[in-house]
Amino acid sequence: NTMLGFSNLLVEKFDSYEIEKQKRFIGILNNDIHNTYKLLENLLMWSQSQNGTIDFKPEKENLYLLAVEIIDLLSQMAENKGITVTNKMSSNIFVNVDKYMLATIIRNLISNAIKFTPKGGTIEIGVDTSLGVSLNQNSIQIYVKDSGIGIKPEKQDKIFSISENTSTKGTENETGTGLGLILCKEFVEKHEGEIWIESREGAGSKFIFTLPLI
Ligand code: ADP
Repeated sequence: NTMLGFSNLLVEKFDSYEIEKQKRFIGILNNDIHNTYKLLENLLMWSQSQNGTIDFKPEKENLYLLAVEIIDLLSQMAENKGITVTNKMSSNIFVNVDKYMLATIIRNLISNAIKFTPKGGTIEIGVDTSLGVSLNQNSIQIYVKDSGIGIKPEKQDKIFSISENTSTKGTENETGTGLGLILCKEFVEKHEGEIWIESREGAGSKFIFTLPLI
C-alpha cells in the first residue's frame, strides 16, 4: 500500500516537488521495496524448506566476500537511516557452507539490525575472537551487532520460535513477518551450528552464530 501510494504521488506530482521531498519519497519507496524483497525471499525459502525441496550444497566460500556482497545490497537501506555498517572480518576466512543459506542468514540479521536501530546508529559484522579466532578447530563464531533498541530478556527466548508471534515494527515503522530469525536458526542448524543473542533493552543487540570452517 505504501509503495503504491508513494509511487503514485511521484508519478503525478514529481515536477512540483522540491528535490528534498523527491529524495525523501524515493527513500521511503526504497525501504519498502527492500522489506518486500526480504519478505518474498523469506517466504520462498521457508516454503522450500517446509516441503523439502530446498537444495543444501555446502561448498568452500570466502566469508568476507559474501558479507561485502550483502552489505552492498543493503547499503541504500542503511543510508536512508544514516546508519553505518562496518565489515570487521579479515579477508582470508573460508567456510564450508551453502552460499544461499548463509546469504539468507546474514541478510536477515543485517536488515533486522537496520530496522531496529534508530537513525544515525552503527552496525558491525565480524568474527568473535574473544575465545580465540574459532570456538574450536572446526567452527567459527560470527556476529552481527547493532546499537539499536535491544530486546527484553523475556522476548529473547521467543524470537527463534515459530509458535510465538514476536514480530514488531522497526524504528521507522518498517513491518515484518517474524519469519526471518526462524529461517536463520533453521539454516544455521542445517550446518550443525548454533545461533543465539546477547542483548539488553535500549543497549543494542548482538546475534552470534557458528559455522563449520574448511
Ligand atoms: P521480522 O523482522 O520480519 O519481524 P524476524 O524473525 O527477523 O522477523 O524478527 C522477529 C522479531 O525479533 C522482530 O520483529 C523484532 O521484534 C525482534 N528483533 C529481531 N532482530 C532485532 C534486532 N536487531 N534488534 C531488536 N529487535 C530485533
